Order: sequence, then structure tokens, then C-alpha cells
Amino acid sequence: MEPLTNRTVIRQVMEKHGFTFSKALGQNFIVNPSVCPRIAEEGGAAPGVGVIEIGAGIGVLTAELARRAEKVVCVEIDSRLLPILDETLGEFTNVTILNEDVMKVDLADLIRREFPGLPVVVCANLPYYITSPILMSLLEQRLPIRSITVMVQREAARRICAQPGTREAGAISAAVRYYSEPGILFPVSRGSFLPAPEVDSSVIRLDVLPAPAVAVEDEALFFTVVRGAFGQRRKTVLNTLSAALGLAKEETRRILEAAGVSPGARAEELTLPQFGAIANQVKQNREA
Ligand code: SAM
Repeated sequence: MEPLTNRTVIRQVMEKHGFTFSKALGQNFIVNPSVCPRIAEEGGAAPGVGVIEIGAGIGVLTAELARRAEKVVCVEIDSRLLPILDETLGEFTNVTILNEDVMKVDLADLIRREFPGLPVVVCANLPYYITSPILMSLLEQRLPIRSITVMVQREAARRICAQPGTREAGAISAAVRYYSEPGILFPVSRGSFLPAPEVDSSVIRLDVLPAPAVAVEDEALFFTVVRGAFGQRRKTVLNTLSAALGLAKEETRRILEAAGVSPGARAEELTLPQFGAIANQVKQNREA
């Protein structure tokens, strides 16, 4: 098979199968030949490792994963790609394509069924319209996975990997750090895709932690606090949290002070342990 990063090959395959790109499904396929081998290697695809891929496209990353890993299961929503993938991945016996929406797949069950006894990693060039929901869903389910290595928009990469307590931090940074140790691996320019998107990208890897980074008594409450605090970034946590938690200002002030947080602080100034301490104080306050 000719290289799947070759634009002429891609156009020929598309024409043969009457395929056109769907913008709504975030279909920007990788045409830079150095990108997929690097994602596969830095993402941990290796003998004895199972890989879950999200979104095969015409299989350019899938093939690099299949060359290195024990087994690859790829979840692809677009049924129009199935006959193409039959052709482009025909040489591999260790690839399964599931024609499903990844947000609706029971991934814990998939891992039990498809990868018994194998360590598992996730690798993907993510559809950008659904980056955060996919990442949060993968993390919140506490799947038995080692890491998540994904291509995302550059701005999203910065936000996802930002350290809480810094200006670029958002609710997603705090949530990601609760479950994993994130890092930016390498930049990818917009010209590395067909069609070229309007922005550049970066590949990031989230190394999943064996246990959450901070101990909280009520996880749902912790996330309510994080989302509430970042709801209006310019306001003080006293204002955003009293609104988000439905508490009087004085009560919120007492909670923040007991948690060691200045009521005049902004969400972006708070560390992960401080968010945890606030959530634990709110819980104690509710139980008192
Ligand atoms: N891996 C290929 C590559 O790098 O060239 C394709 C990446 S493209 C950015 C995203 C892929 O995800 C597309 O093939 C798209 O059809 C698929 N996709 C979009 N939404 C999806 C969903 N909810 N579940 C599974 N796959 C999805």
C-alpha cells in the first residue's frame, strides 16, 4: 500500500469510494509523514500493549499503531470510512474497527473484552469539536489505561496542560490534573493536515495517575466547586462560589477562610489542593 500521508493516494482512495470530508465530524487527516510514527512511539504503542484509537479517518495513524502494538481497537463514527479502512488496513490482522460514537461506547467493557491481561493506552488525532468531552469522559470513567496521547488544537493543549494557579488555567486544567500528569509533547502545524484547519495543533500526553492527585470526600462536589469558580473568571471566588453553591456570602467567606483561601482570589490563582480543601469544607458545612 502507498503511504497514506500522500495527498495523491488520499484523493484517489476518496474518489474511488465517493468519500468527501465532513467538517461536522472534525475530519482533518494527517498528511505529514513524521507525525503518526511519533504519536505511536511517544504514546506507548509497543509489543504487548493494547491501543484504543478514536477516529481512524483513512487509517494513517491506525497503521502506525498496528505496526508497533499487540492489538488496536479503533472507534470510528463515520460508516462511509469502513470500506476505505478495509482496503487501507488490509495487511493488518491485529486491528478491529468499531463503527460507533466513542461517547456512547462502554469503554470499560471494551477493555475487558478486547485486551484481557494487556496494559492499554489511548492514542488519537481527536475530532476537535468534541475534545474536552472525550478527554473528560476517558478520565472520569477511571478506565484501566496507562496514558492518553492525543492531537488537539494548540490553544486547547495549553489550557489542558496548564498548571492550576497560573493564568492559562481553566476548569479543564484542574480536572485533568486531578486524574493525570499532563504534558505537551510536540507542535504540529496546520499544513500537516488535509484539509488544513484554521489553527495549529499540539500532541499532548496525559499519564494517568494511580489515584487522584488530591483527596476529596465528595468528587461531584469538587467538580461543582471547580466549574463554579471558573464560571466567571474575572470575579472573586467569594462571588462565583456563593452563586454556584447557593450559599450566603458570609457563609462562603467562612468556608474559604477555613480552607485557607483568600475570598478575594480569582479561580486561576487557586491550586488543586486549595480546590480540594474548599470542596471538603463545603461538605463539612453541609453535614454540620
Ligand atoms: N486518525 C485520522 C488521522 O489522523 O488522519 C483521522 C483524524 S480526524 C481529526 C477525526 C476522526 O474522528 C474522523 O475520522 C471522524 O470521522 C472521527 N470521529 C468524529 N467524531 C467521532 C465520535 N464521536 N466517535 C468516533 N469517531 C469520531
